[in-house]
Amino acid sequence: MRSAPADSRTDPDELRDLHLRKLRAGLAEVLAANTFWRDRLQDVRGWDDFERLPLTTKAALLADQATHPPFGTNLTYPLERFVRLHQTSGSSGGQPLRWLDTAESWEWWLRIWADHVYRAAGVKAGDRVFLAFSFGPFIGFWSAFGGAERLGALCISGGAMTSEQRLRSMLDVGATVLLSTPTYALRLADVANQLGIDLRQSDVRVTIHAGEPGASIPATRAAIEEAYGATCFDHTGMTELGPTGFSCSQRDGIHLIESEFIFEVLDADGHPSVEGELVATNLGRWGMPLIRYRTGDRVKVSREQCSCGSAFLKLLGGIQGRVDDMFTVRGVNLFPSQVEDIVRRYPEVVEFVIERRRERHMDEVSLLIEAVGAEFSTDRLEADLRQALGVRLPCHVVERGTLPRSELKARRIRQVGS
Ligand SMILES: [Zn+2]
Repeated sequence: MRSAPADSRTDPDELRDLHLRKLRAGLAEVLAANTFWRDRLQDVRGWDDFERLPLTTKAALLADQATHPPFGTNLTYPLERFVRLHQTSGSSGGQPLRWLDTAESWEWWLRIWADHVYRAAGVKAGDRVFLAFSFGPFIGFWSAFGGAERLGALCISGGAMTSEQRLRSMLDVGATVLLSTPTYALRLADVANQLGIDLRQSDVRVTIHAGEPGASIPATRAAIEEAYGATCFDHTGMTELGPTGFSCSQRDGIHLIESEFIFEVLDADGHPSVEGELVATNLGRWGMPLIRYRTGDRVKVSREQCSCGSAFLKLLGGIQGRVDDMFTVRGVNLFPSQVEDIVRRYPEVVEFVIERRRERHMDEVSLLIEAVGAEFSTDRLEADLRQALGVRLPCHVVERGTLPRSELKARRIRQVGS
């Protein structure tokens, strides 16, 4: 089996041949030894066979791990072959999902970070990469750290530090690249502001963000770039799938890394579409693979040639939101990212949450805001939201420090009542 081209200027027909070759080679091992998939799949000789394979959900994986603790039955190799254990953040309140990697699949993660994500952001061997994360059991920062190390960059962990310590550390060591969630990048900027530190004078020239769609939301990206005087990039990935995408120099969306995954977009009826839920099959993690996995991410895709030269499928505007985060106001379907794009145009706003109350089968939605300065008038924001979204969203200012803080994934929706 030939190795995947790092260069994304791949002909779509060549790509489909490559997909089928990799899939067939991997499935041969999986069907022989992996009981989770042996019960669900049959051999794939062509694309017709592939499209008949069932979709896989996170619920099915969680149920399997609950029935067969601690790792479930999605194991192609004996446990001795695996060298890393990570788990999902469980951010939606559920049980975390455990995921194992072999030395080979871990190397696959790091190669994708180095060859695609960092390359697209222009990160090089001479860079100093600061990772403002806690380094808990979640896989994202470990893979980002290893990928930067593989590239030859100097990697700096920001684990077990306060925001102020992280800022001082970044400045002291001359970090040139910051990795964090978009929300946390803005919180660091807020802390810097309070301390009288001008981040624009720092050496940081690139920021890369994941965990939330923020870095693909124009107003959020502009706020980060303004605060740091840096260029801001988005990255998508999932513990159970791998690093799936990156934003390129054109920065109007996310390229999906099609040399390492098969991506599909399915509408609500399960038919192929340009808009719907993203479904992915990884092609480099055969110890614990995922076939036709429903990511829960709502996307809109384009095959048009991008000015950056990449032929990879593009998610227009990044991930629109989680399929189950969509909310409805007076019959209008909205995602938190659409609200965020308006809210982040107000530098005074430091945190916000969309509060959703279900009353008499109607969603009553309002926006809770933390702002700097004594008096933040919500009138202009409410008018802008109404203009952009076509519905009224009442805004309420709450006391500073009262909205939940998260270093991993900010939950933008809060459900009140049932
Ligand atoms: Zn591009």
